[in-house]
Amino acid sequence: MAAEPFVSEDILEQTRCLDVSLSYACNARCRFCSQDPARRGEAALPLRRAARRIHEAYAAGFRRLGFSGGEPTAAADLPRLIAFGRRTGYRSVRLQTNGLRLADEDYARALAEAGLTTARFSIHGVPQVHDALVAVPGAHARLEAAARNLRRLGLRLGVNVVLTRPALEGIPELCERWLLREGLTSFTFIRPLAYGAMAGETAALEARCSELAEAMEGVCRIFEREGLEPPLLLHFTPCLLPGREGRMLGWHRFDAWTVEPDGTVSDLDENVARVKGRPESCAGCAYEARCPGVDRGYLARHGSAEFRPAARRAPPRGGPPSTDPRRRLLTENELCVQSLLRRGPLETEALLTLAEAAPLCQDCRGGAAILAAAERLERMGRLRRVRRAGRYLWDSVDPRQGEA
Ligand code: SF4
Repeated sequence: MAAEPFVSEDILEQTRCLDVSLSYACNARCRFCSQDPARRGEAALPLRRAARRIHEAYAAGFRRLGFSGGEPTAAADLPRLIAFGRRTGYRSVRLQTNGLRLADEDYARALAEAGLTTARFSIHGVPQVHDALVAVPGAHARLEAAARNLRRLGLRLGVNVVLTRPALEGIPELCERWLLREGLTSFTFIRPLAYGAMAGETAALEARCSELAEAMEGVCRIFEREGLEPPLLLHFTPCLLPGREGRMLGWHRFDAWTVEPDGTVSDLDENVARVKGRPESCAGCAYEARCPGVDRGYLARHGSAEFRPAARRAPPRGGPPSTDPRRRLLTENELCVQSLLRRGPLETEALLTLAEAAPLCQDCRGGAAILAAAERLERMGRLRRVRRAGRYLWDSVDPRQGEA
């Protein structure tokens, strides 16, 4: 049997996640939105009901909390719910956002002070393409301001890109801008499914899976050239990018529940399984036993010829971040370790304790990801570990090198 594909820290470290959709209201008009625009005016999830769901999920073992929508910053109760989530015990509180309101520094600070740990920005192309797709002039410039605000506040940042046809050509430039210039290294590229507004836009916006796979292979190479793990990919199949399945969300369980604005709760893995299936042509594929297949709507529009059964599983491609001292960009956990050591040398236990409390590091579990990040930095010559009185002490080599 082929070896298990390389699976990255950020998938393995995940604990069960509750995603709360506060309302369908939004301050943008994304043409590819998966929500039905007719539902924008529907009632928001009441504060007490949201708090009850957050509490129930914590009791059921969930430790990561996310807010989405609609646009979650449209909800007046957001700061209170973030604070409630942290008081309940969630280690990680994430916002999936278009970033428009977070360009306001006071609002960004209010969310950080409430306990927000992570923001994932929805960025959908180079500036002019992004602004046109979300139908808000100047939206991209506000996103850049939002990212800088939250970085200054010490939050963990990520990027979600919905892959539409107008965005495809500019994807390398998008990577250049957000990866190399802004230093954001945690990306998820999403192939949109035809629901909500996107259902009426497939002719204009939908790219074929094979085109997207080619573009994603190019993106993976950009990340690998920089010594980083390739980005995460959503709604792709191994036959499209053989050996990249270790980076495919949905290949590993989401292990997430979603709460809708009307209070109903559903299991994300079950939701995805309902809309996907394997065409008959998959018979005999080496991935068949585990592959969820393709959304049936796509198969109805384009057929199954792009999904070619694999005789055997491809060797895994990609790997953990490199320890080459010339690597220019640091991962979120590496940035966290560096920022903690700016206070002075720390023993391993103290480093892990501080990391637990730092927004940048709260997605890690059991400290394994933090120690792995510290060891990489040591091998890169960016920090040193010395043994003193029988204990390891971590120390910066040169604080100026902490600037990624
Ligand atoms: S089972 Fe089908 S969709 Fe999945 S990897 Fe194989 S050919 Fe592709």
